[in-house]
Amino acid sequence: MQIIHRLVYRTYTSGVFRLLRDLCREMDSKLLNLIVIPALVSIQSGCSEPELSQKPISLAEVNEAVVEFISTPEETNPFYEESPLYLNYPRFDRIQDAHYLPAFERGMEEELEEIEAIVNQPDQPSFDNTILALELTGQLLDRVARVFYAISSAHTNDEIRALEQQLAPRLAGHEDNILLNPDLFERVGIIYEQRDDLALEPESMRLLEKYYTEFVRGGAALSVPEQQHMKELNAEIASFETLYSQNILSEVNDLAVIVDTEEELTGLDQALITAAREEAAARDLDGKYVLPLLNTSSQPALASLQNRALREIIHSISLSRGSRGGDFDNTEVLSDVLRLRAERAQLLGYDNHAHFILEDRTAQTVAAVNNRLAELTTPALANVNREAVDLQQMIYDDGQDFELASWDWDFYTDKLRLARYDFDAKELRPYFELNNVLLKGVFFAAEQLYGITFKEQISLPVYQEDVRVFEVYDTTGTTLAIFIADFYARPTKRGGAWMNSYVSQSNLLNTRPIVANHLNITKPSEGEVTLLTFDEVTTMFHEFGHALHGMFSAVEYPYFSGTSVPRDFVEYPSQVNEMWAIWPEVLANYAIHHETGQSMPQELLEKVLSTQTFNQGFETTEYLAASILDQALHQLTPEEIPVGDEIMEFERSTFEGAGIVLDSVPPRYRSTYFSHIMGGYHAGYYSYIWSEVLDADSVDWFKENGGLTRENGDHFRQTLLSRGGADDAMTLFRKFRGRDPNITPLLERRGLN
Ligand SMILES: [Zn+2]
Repeated sequence: MQIIHRLVYRTYTSGVFRLLRDLCREMDSKLLNLIVIPALVSIQSGCSEPELSQKPISLAEVNEAVVEFISTPEETNPFYEESPLYLNYPRFDRIQDAHYLPAFERGMEEELEEIEAIVNQPDQPSFDNTILALELTGQLLDRVARVFYAISSAHTNDEIRALEQQLAPRLAGHEDNILLNPDLFERVGIIYEQRDDLALEPESMRLLEKYYTEFVRGGAALSVPEQQHMKELNAEIASFETLYSQNILSEVNDLAVIVDTEEELTGLDQALITAAREEAAARDLDGKYVLPLLNTSSQPALASLQNRALREIIHSISLSRGSRGGDFDNTEVLSDVLRLRAERAQLLGYDNHAHFILEDRTAQTVAAVNNRLAELTTPALANVNREAVDLQQMIYDDGQDFELASWDWDFYTDKLRLARYDFDAKELRPYFELNNVLLKGVFFAAEQLYGITFKEQISLPVYQEDVRVFEVYDTTGTTLAIFIADFYARPTKRGGAWMNSYVSQSNLLNTRPIVANHLNITKPSEGEVTLLTFDEVTTMFHEFGHALHGMFSAVEYPYFSGTSVPRDFVEYPSQVNEMWAIWPEVLANYAIHHETGQSMPQELLEKVLSTQTFNQGFETTEYLAASILDQALHQLTPEEIPVGDEIMEFERSTFEGAGIVLDSVPPRYRSTYFSHIMGGYHAGYYSYIWSEVLDADSVDWFKENGGLTRENGDHFRQTLLSRGGADDAMTLFRKFRGRDPNITPLLERRGLN
């Protein structure tokens, strides 16, 4: 039943969100201000906002595409058999779009037959004939789903998008068919009751408990009429979630800011002005300029636009999205989703939706999350106030006398950064050549820490010519894994950066990992070298941290393989790996000027590092505000959910209660354009900072113990990276760190102490 554990994260959405594409980095808005932005849309890098790069598809298009799929012959479908290539590497040389649907259909059919065989066997339920057997079901479905969702993110087309939309409800129904199968649940329940007498190995015991919990959380323990009610709630929630996401997209398209003259855009980078002119032309507004909105509250143009009135307009429009009335207003839709989720939670025996979600996470309780957010908010707000004083002074120094408003924040922050640090991020790029960063930076750090080595493998097929494949060898020289590197941006790829796995490690299945990293680096023209921004370098280390988590996996069951850990834990190992990007020995090895061959001057590096705590009060606060809002919206009973026209007032009073002033620091997302809470991060947006507490504390451990050494790497690998989800996440952390996490290193890192 491998497909199910991943689809659990599907969270009843329209299918645009998948766990398979979720292991990525929340774009640090601090860095948005530093980097040269190639195109307005391509910086939509938050890992959980993929839907904005997807265009909506009409039902007619779906049907048209589906007809094509069905009419294709099936005999040669490469998904039907396990790939004969090395380590079951996907048959990219043979896979065609037409193969997906029949493979999904046969995969679902096969899995249901396998489930029937488990249920109908005459033998009494046992761990082996039920739990272990479940773990072996659905392999065809798993094979096709992994490739399909990888390609739908990395190299999609209209047919794949249409199929994705068509598959979402079918896979949801398939999952319901398994989780709500009463005979199957009965068998699992019998074994669960006997668990203490079965002498199971710890990992097997955990597997049994996980399956049992998954069934219960899926509604298996409810009465038949209750289950029927739950299916209806799921379907309703899914359709409202889709509507909410489509409204966000429509609102962005509807609300782009139109400017008449280039003069009004003074301060904006020339490339952005050109892009704005082209965007206008594309909308039949020749001669004008169109600034499309990003999904965040803050808009990148605000950092450089000198025209204060225009800044205010852009900012106000941005904040009005989804709550200004009209066809795409999301207040009512949100209210409906929240109420239905709360009803479902109560049906399952929980107080509210957050209670239901958090029980399954590292945080475990509503109180734990609320406390963590509150203890961070106080120091963050103190810093915001200090930053505001500095910015007001910049305004006076600029010969102005107006009071700092939220639409001035980015503009004067940039001025202050320049004045204080005399730092232009563009100076760094010549030192960050892609191959150097990968081979002499990312791989080098892994070699030093873990003793693993890499060799490029050109014989295996790829789905796109820029994709590279590496064989990874363990300390003993045996093959550990295959690593696929897909770094360049292209129109067929969604924004952001992420990791996925084509084959998961499992001793039971005797499989070794095949994992991939995806970035969106602009491809240079023919013959030019690829130079990265500092943010792209950090992102490459981050994603490789996920890759290591996948590659070092040494577990019995696929259920627990690699990154199969709670959402509020999964970013932790990848965040830790970012530390090596600026580790002196690593940096000296890879940051080499691509023309002169000289190492990066120390003072240049110092400048980069010194800006890291800059503006962190604001950035932490806007993030915390959104996290607090997400929790507040999901910690209500059905009766307490505000109706549509009370949503914005509820939002305002939530912020007031937390001491956050909406007018000076708006949340990173408001209730009506908060994509994360329709995708996998509902009641879970806190996860980023939750993981970062563990990350900062672990970075301290490495520093305390001598940094980049084999001994340290082996300890991290042995206690944590190799264990996947086979143990409780916090137990793993304690084994690695030797104690409970401490919040101080995070506060220090963000300059909030
Ligand atoms: Zn990540």
